[in-house]
Amino acid sequence: MKRCYDCPRGCGAARDDGAVGICGGAKHARIAKIIDPFEYEEPCLGSVTAVFFGGCSLGCSYCQNHKISRGGAGEEYSDDALAKVFDGARGAIDLVTPSHYLSAIERALPLCKRDNSFIYNTSGYDTVDAVRRASAFTDVFLTDYKYADSDIAHRLSRASDYPQIAVNAIEQMRKTCDEWTEHGGKRILKRGLIIRHLVLPDCVQNSIAVIDDIARRWGTDVVLSLMSQFTPNGVGEPSVRLRKIEYKVVAEHAVKLGFKTGYFQEFCSASSAYTPEF
Ligand code: SF4
Repeated sequence: MKRCYDCPRGCGAARDDGAVGICGGAKHARIAKIIDPFEYEEPCLGSVTAVFFGGCSLGCSYCQNHKISRGGAGEEYSDDALAKVFDGARGAIDLVTPSHYLSAIERALPLCKRDNSFIYNTSGYDTVDAVRRASAFTDVFLTDYKYADSDIAHRLSRASDYPQIAVNAIEQMRKTCDEWTEHGGKRILKRGLIIRHLVLPDCVQNSIAVIDDIARRWGTDVVLSLMSQFTPNGVGEPSVRLRKIEYKVVAEHAVKLGFKTGYFQEFCSASSAYTPEF
């Protein structure tokens, strides 16, 4: 009986035989929403086709998409149907929270009738082996680096091992060199890596430690996306809003370190307008 160990939770669910993992994933990929075209917060990704998967292997308490990450929203797609979704996309396919469906995506790819471009939009809670497998079809890794502090990782995501897991995963993602192109007068990242960090309320020291770690390990050439769009989801912690001063302190720290390519969100992005309806 084949068991699933595709993510660091390593729960071993026999998904091919009908079991459901801790992530909420069964054998086939569950898609909660497809948005085409979808404009990213990072303009260098251009216009994409976003495929939002249901379930999640990390499961943060403050998840902005909690209706799909923890609720059962969405429909199951057979491998063939998933391949058709990929072939029908107008732009690069943005796989949103794909880690727990890596096996389903791998099964669908040989069924595709054309060569597709993929963005692997992940929480960073990925095994090195999973990143290696994803590298076989991924053009751009768009990963979070959420926590450098294990206690916060445990409290908000039940994953005290997150810091080390994410560092190892990003180390593997960084092996793809950044490759840029021009489209419609815009600079587009064709291949490579973007590291996102969402600043959370009452967690400034964690954010500073994450930014320091990124600069120290991967240099200030890496594309950094610093996000302020946290909004309490009414379900889990944190239940307070991010303060402007907290975001300012972290953003100024990133500027001081000298990151060359990156994005800062306007503070007014801390609004549910950035959360798609499911
Ligand atoms: S991907 Fe899901 S089923 Fe597989 S190990 Fe992780 S939590 Fe378990």
